[in-house]
Amino acid sequence: MPLTDLPDHVSPFAFVPGTPEYDGGAHLFRAPATPEVVLRPRTTEEVAAAVRVCVSAGLRIQVRSGGHGSAPCPDGALIDLSGLDGVTVTGSTAEIGVGAVWADVAAALAPHGLVVTSGDTGSVGVGGLVLGGGIGWLVRTHGLTIDSLRGIELVTAAGQIRMVDAQEDPELFWALRGGGGNFGVVTRLWIEAAPAPDLVRVELGYEPSATRSLMEAWWQVMAQAPDTVNSTLAVMPDISPQFPAGGLVDLVLEGTVGEAREVVAPLLAVDGLRSERIEPCRYADLLGPTPPEDIPVTFVGGNRLLPELTSEALDRLAALAAGDAPTMLMLRGLGGAFGRVGGEETAFAHRDARVLAVANALLPADAPEEVIAAAREAQAGVFGHGTGIYGNFSLDRGPEVTAAMYPPATLERLRTVKARVDPDGIFAAAHALY
Ligand SMILES: Cc1cc2nc3c(=O)[nH]c(=O)nc-3n(C[C@H](O)[C@H](O)[C@H](O)COP(=O)(O)OP(=O)(O)OC[C@H]3O[C@@H](n4cnc5c(N)ncnc54)[C@H](O)[C@@H]3O)c2cc1C
Repeated sequence: MPLTDLPDHVSPFAFVPGTPEYDGGAHLFRAPATPEVVLRPRTTEEVAAAVRVCVSAGLRIQVRSGGHGSAPCPDGALIDLSGLDGVTVTGSTAEIGVGAVWADVAAALAPHGLVVTSGDTGSVGVGGLVLGGGIGWLVRTHGLTIDSLRGIELVTAAGQIRMVDAQEDPELFWALRGGGGNFGVVTRLWIEAAPAPDLVRVELGYEPSATRSLMEAWWQVMAQAPDTVNSTLAVMPDISPQFPAGGLVDLVLEGTVGEAREVVAPLLAVDGLRSERIEPCRYADLLGPTPPEDIPVTFVGGNRLLPELTSEALDRLAALAAGDAPTMLMLRGLGGAFGRVGGEETAFAHRDARVLAVANALLPADAPEEVIAAAREAQAGVFGHGTGIYGNFSLDRGPEVTAAMYPPATLERLRTVKARVDPDGIFAAAHALY
């Protein structure tokens, strides 16, 4: 079916290149997308109609919820779900349209005294983050976002609308919790919210010279912290006078300012502490703004899930921070509730991880191949300690990335579900199952 000949019930929300509606829908975070058509349905029924039209036109489908997944979409159709963004709260259950962003969800839950753990940034979309797992401010307290997921509305490759949960097709429900956008278009989710805790936020800044001892003290705190303590440690290169090089601990805990001071005592004792802020906060205020998109650098790196931070891993991380290529490091504490879910309970299987380590060299856009290769070589020392990759944080794609996202048995199980629900492979997910 030519795109100029779309049926009347689809053409009002189908946009081709050259129209402003196309440009808005095709926008992805730090990545161009050039699909043949953008379909922007406003209801689940319209999503089902859009899928049927794509199938009969022979167009592969990529789905966009919040557009932060950055998977380039060179051809085929892009179904933009930004219009399906309603959030309603009934009792402790949030019914969420996947086109909502996490700031919307936090804002809708706050008046009910409830929270759902999501990610750190308010503008990230619900759809992509949930389907890949969801590592956020309360990950050690409530697990991944998928661990609170109770039901999913899905449009299948056949254009049917289905409800999927622990009773209704449990194997597909398992696959959708970590298996990404491989199985259909998810339109709505039901998530069990938790009572909003009294939180204290600790923000500590350090001189670059403190990096090694800071990382050691951070790990000492996080390795023995109760589930109610969550934290990231970032080590930044010298990007601009506005953002001087150094370490930044961001730690959130349930409790009082006094209790927070006790928990972070080893961090306050690190030589090179240059700033300190410890104050009560609300969960919704933790969701930060979108980082700038127009940074004139290429990010070369990735992430690994690590079972622990050995002394050798700490040495290698410190060497990476002090190396030739300006490198951004981020460590996030896992464990707690995240680690109490069995590796086979959801398609996100790497539950033994206690740290997520992200390392990205910030290189000029025209960096020569040998500089890129040297940056990757330096990172390999750290990444060698990992047991897997968190797909949502991986800008790289391909069979090797997918194989690191899932242990072999999990990947095989995901492929079996894919073959059943999308036998012709019409859904082009950010991370294919290969
Ligand atoms: C600035 C920034 C901050 C981030 N912070 C965090 C964080 O704190 N924690 C965390 O866990 N992750 C974080 N991420 C990663 C984020 O989870 C992924 O990028 C995620 O894919 C974004 O979801 P989205 O809906 O915005 O993306 P999209 O680009 O819309 O989607 C990404 C992919 O998910 C699939 N998909 C999306 N929606 C659907 C759907 N409704 N049905 C079927 N498939 C779908 C598609 O394969 C799509 O290509 C961050 C990313 C950015 C850019």
